[in-house]
Amino acid sequence: MIVFGSRMYFKKNVVKSFEECEHCGAYGKMTSYKARKFGHIYFIPLIPMGKSSQVLRECKGCSRGAHIPVDQLEPMVDSVADQFKSLIVSVSEGETEVEVQPGGPKMNIGAMIAGIMGDLYCLKEIESVDSISDVLLANNLNFENELVQAKWSELTGNLDGARDHYDAAHRQKPADPIPIYRKAMTELRSKRIEAAESDFKKYLQLVPDDIQAHAQLAGIYESQKKFDQVVAAYDEIFKLNPANLTNKHLKKTYKKACKKSGAQGAFLAQM
Ligand SMILES: [Zn+2]
Repeated sequence: MIVFGSRMYFKKNVVKSFEECEHCGAYGKMTSYKARKFGHIYFIPLIPMGKSSQVLRECKGCSRGAHIPVDQLEPMVDSVADQFKSLIVSVSEGETEVEVQPGGPKMNIGAMIAGIMGDLYCLKEIESVDSISDVLLANNLNFENELVQAKWSELTGNLDGARDHYDAAHRQKPADPIPIYRKAMTELRSKRIEAAESDFKKYLQLVPDDIQAHAQLAGIYESQKKFDQVVAAYDEIFKLNPANLTNKHLKKTYKKACKKSGAQGAFLAQM
């Protein structure tokens, strides 16, 4: 039997990062690299197929990632780098919040920098967080520095470091929902389930109508077989968005949790 097919060959600029996959939702190792697709026979690359491309965040679990043709790469990197530079300029001008889109809502500059830093890291444009951290600290943006350090720890797979930095950010600004949500996710990924539960609850005191956080709690209670609490979390989810009542998977879990706990869910009659 002749083995033939196609795959990416001659990988360059390989960067490993740890992130949540936007395709399968799993948190894990991602690989970014520049390469070219070749048709192969017995895994010997023989037939070039298309131009080289930059692959961003190829997930270890589902193998999907973003493929950017190399001729589109330079303008993209330039635009990301420009955004990044303008954020650093804003920092040096003492700004702590910037508009995400012109005229749109404002967002914390540390959270913005952390987001863009992820892209630059995967593109192998930055290899250390130190210079960014120096600029933030020189401008007394300690909260922002914790967010950026936390994101860097996350990217490099250091979940304990990420937890500590999100915790430090949360202690500096307890009313800001971002650090406590990120900390909760980090605890969850580190399998510290009770800490995650407590953080999601703290977060929900700040943002009570975030369905995502209720869903995370529901998942935690399900894993602990605390079925009465699963029912309560689902009641919140259905109350916040009744469209979820038509979701087969949610309905099944809800009915099972009602049965197991004997709790009379508020939406059970509608199932
Ligand atoms: Zn995936």
